[in-house]
Amino acid sequence: MTATSNQHSDCLFCSIATGKIDADIVKQNDDVIAFRDINPQAEMHVLVVPKRHFGDVVHVAKAEPELLAQLVTFADEVASELADGQFRFIFNCGPNAGQSVFHVHGHVLGGQRLGWTPA
Ligand code: AMP
Repeated sequence: MTATSNQHSDCLFCSIATGKIDADIVKQNDDVIAFRDINPQAEMHVLVVPKRHFGDVVHVAKAEPELLAQLVTFADEVASELADGQFRFIFNCGPNAGQSVFHVHGHVLGGQRLGWTPA
């Protein structure tokens, strides 16, 4: 499967992955794209996103665990390139957990001392 197959035409992050919608891209390869969140919650707030569509991180873990490992590695690289290498990596799964875009994305937060207020 190619990086841009399995796209959903009505999905915001599929549209960013294929370049139909602009984003502040910080890093990408054939499989993964990382871009700045439009509503940052920390000095560094980047979304790490597989280019192929998966609804959430559980689907990625079950279908392609190596892709999940790639997302973690990507987050680490983003945090080293944009900040001090320390980071929090969050996947919201489901509306009650705060998920609002149903194309899997990990939030990479850092660049400052982080608090802990998940609820
Ligand atoms: P979640 O609530 O976990 O699904 O996270 C979705 C994130 O996507 C939020 O933090 C939004 O601020 C962010 N977001 C929504 N639209 C865009 C966009 N066009 N470019 C960058 N980030 C976006």
